Order: sequence, then C-alpha cells, then structure tokens
Amino acid sequence: MSREPLQAEPFKIKVVEPIKLPPREYREKKIIEGDYNLFTLKRDDIYIDLLTDSGTSAMSDNQWAGIMLGDESYAGGRSFDHLRQAVKNVLGFEYVIPTHQGRPAESFLFQTLMKEGSFVPFNMPFDTTGANIKAGGGTYIECVYDSAYESKEVLPFKGNIDLDKLKGVLREKGADKIPFIMITITNNTGGGQPVSIANMREVKMLADQHGIPLFFDAARCVENAYFIQQREEGYREKTIAEIVQEELSYAEGCTFSCKKDALVNMGGMIALRDKELYDRIIPLLILKEGFITYGGMSGRDEEALARGLYEMIDDEYIANRVQQVEYLGQRINEYGIPTVLPIGGHAVFVDAAAFFPHISQSQFPAEVLAVELYRECGVRGVGLGALCFMEEDEEGGEIHYPKLELFRLTIPRRVYTNRHMDVIADGLKRVWDRRESVKGLKIKWAPGVLRHFLAKLEPV
Ligand SMILES: *Cc1c(COP(=O)(O)O)cnc(C)c1O
Repeated sequence: MSREPLQAEPFKIKVVEPIKLPPREYREKKIIEGDYNLFTLKRDDIYIDLLTDSGTSAMSDNQWAGIMLGDESYAGGRSFDHLRQAVKNVLGFEYVIPTHQGRPAESFLFQTLMKEGSFVPFNMPFDTTGANIKAGGGTYIECVYDSAYESKEVLPFKGNIDLDKLKGVLREKGADKIPFIMITITNNTGGGQPVSIANMREVKMLADQHGIPLFFDAARCVENAYFIQQREEGYREKTIAEIVQEELSYAEGCTFSCKKDALVNMGGMIALRDKELYDRIIPLLILKEGFITYGGMSGRDEEALARGLYEMIDDEYIANRVQQVEYLGQRINEYGIPTVLPIGGHAVFVDAAAFFPHISQSQFPAEVLAVELYRECGVRGVGLGALCFMEEDEEGGEIHYPKLELFRLTIPRRVYTNRHMDVIADGLKRVWDRRESVKGLKIKWAPGVLRHFLAKLEPV
C-alpha cells in the first residue's frame, strides 16, 4: 500500500467553540485567587486547555448523528447491538460489558478475578488501575524496563515489560498467587510510551506456560498501534485496523476507558472472549451500573461510541493525532527545553526539575511551571511531580520524593490545530527565557489524599 505524505488535519471544521485569551492582569488575579492551583480555574479563564485528553475529544458529524439515532430501550437496545458489533469487528472480542468510564470496568474485572493477597504483574498501571488492584486486596508489581523511569533514554518501546523481571515475579510469588497479568498500552503513567507486538507475544507465551490469563488496559491501543506501524519491523505496510486486531489477539480481554482513543466524552467497557467470565462479571454490572445492554451508558452514548471505534482506526486520523503531539514536542525541544523522550502518544512531558534546576523538589517545580505557563499565555497543563506523588514515612518523618518531576501538556483529539501548538511552544519559550528569576512554591494548606487537586499554594 502506498501512502501520500500527510498534508494537514484530515478533517474540516463544521462547528466551532470560541476561546479567548483573558488579559494578563486577569490571569494574574486568577492565579492568586486560586492559590496557585490551576484546578481552580474555570473554562473561561483559560485560552488553551491541556489538562487532559480524557473525555475532551471532538466528536465527528457521524457520531453526533448517532446521538440522535440512539435507542434508549432499557433492555435489548439497538445501540448496544451496534456497539457489540463494533467491538467484535474492531477489537475482536465477542462480549462487551458497558460501563460509564474506565475505572468501574477495572473494578468489576479485578473484583471478579482477584482475592486478598493476590499479586498482579504490570508494565505499569494507570493510577486508577493501581488503586483498584489495591482496593481489591491485591498488590501490583511494576515490571517495565528500568529505562521507563529515565526521561532521557530514547528507546522505541519504552512501555515494554522486562521479561526477566516478570519471570522473577512468577518464580517468587508462584502462579497460584497471580490471577492475571496486565499490560497498559500505551503506558500512560510512563509518558504514553508504546509496547511492541514482540513483547506482547513473549509475555503471552510466558503467561500461557504458567496458565495465567493476560489482560490489556487498552484505553490507548490505537496510539500504541501507530507506534508499532512506525517503529516495529514488519508492520510498516500493515493498517492500523490490522495492528489493533493483532495487539488485542494476545489478550483474554481488556478494560477500556472510551474517553481516550475511542473518541467519546464519556464511556468505558470490559471486552472479553470468554462467556464464563462474562457471566461472572455481569451481576456486578447490574448491581453497580445498570442492565447488561446499557450498564453505565445511555443508548445514544453507545451509538456514538460504536461509531468512534470505527473512526479511531482510520490511518490518517491517528497519524495526524500522534504527529501533532510530536510536533509540539519538537517545537519545544528545538528551544532546548528538556522533555521526556521519545515524545509519547498523547502528551508532551516537560522535565520541570531540569527546567528549574534552582528550585528544589520540595518547592514543586512542576506546579511552578504550570503557573508560569498560564501566567505567560493562558495555557493550562498539569504538574505531575512532588505535589502529586510525594509520600511521608509512616512515623511522619522523612518525605520521599518521586523520581520524576514532570509537567504534562496533554493534547485533546481533533480539538486544536498546529497553530495552537505554536502558541503553546512559544509561550513556554518565554517562560524558559526568564526561568532563572522564577521562584518556588510552598504548601499553604493540603488535604491528606488527592493532594494536587485541592492543595493551596503560595510563593516561597
Ligand atoms: C484514563 C485511563 C484509565 C481510567 O479510565 P477513566 O475513564 O478515567 O476511569 C485507565 N487506564 C488508562 C491507560 C487511562 O488512560
């Protein structure tokens, strides 16, 4: 198959949502009123919002048409049949359990498979996924390559499982303590880094040898497929549709936050091969979400999701999506600003510790950068560093800081153009030019849990 070089966004814009850059004095005021925490900002306070790519995608005309055609039957809805067909055709799974987003899907699957004292090897779990393993009485074990924790090491598949680590866990804990193995594609927590088909195949073989089922967290399986197409030998000529099918063929089932690659604003699911496992999970769905044909979604949401599943595997669409993230990363790197490398599938992660070497981790460089970029150009990103991840000793003594102090610029799908990316990169450059005069932040007030959402900060 021959491919044309990409030209521009593979869509034209039918509906627009106005955005405005509020004046600098207004931004200054909002920073102070909001105690230096950008979670306090309102939509109209922000010019370009890169807080997350979760549920922030723009739906297509075809998906919006599906919203009108949604069938709201309590049982046996037509839209559920469309969703089931799409899951079968695109992902290759027979059974679908619809949930309102990714985390209930995780909770239902884990509650069904795990018991107290279980161990679950992962490359790396997403935060809600790890929390749901713990909530089920289990412990997750990260088996990703060490390089995943090094922001500067450029490897094509930094999300891969280290097979020696996995073998060690299997030996040490024993197969009877391990109800399943899970791979997150792409590895969101590790910077949106992909997992290769070769790695999936090897993990699957190892899992089979021990009689342990393999599951995927497939929220970003299409971004992952794009990286496979670009980087893995033998996949250059395959379509994204074929690669997604092959990826998921190695899994017994998957949890799926549809707010990511599936291009809807709300929705999730478990997709499975095995009827027996499906039958064990659905009582939980009926108890916590809703009947088997709608679960946590309305019929119209299922209809939009069914259409999103077909749209997400369009080769031009996904190439444009990931290349836009790469474009922003390149622009930022050209200015000499350090980021996690290679640039991941959904976000640019700026190394805030290297950006502000004079600000110690105890003064939250990632949050400082978030505030300064908003001050500079009205762009909101999110700090993922000490404020989010630091932990105090049981005795309340020593504080343990995370290895990475990152500032994430997450790109919503089909929402912004590359001109927006330029504005973001140029704003960041202006902060870079005055970085030496920027001071750290300290905590004025913080809750015990979910600190970075609610903390109040002030300049040191
Ligand atoms: C967002 C996300 C989840 C959680 O899904 P929600 O829809 O936010 O509940 C799980 N895993 C990955 C990889 C994600 O990106």
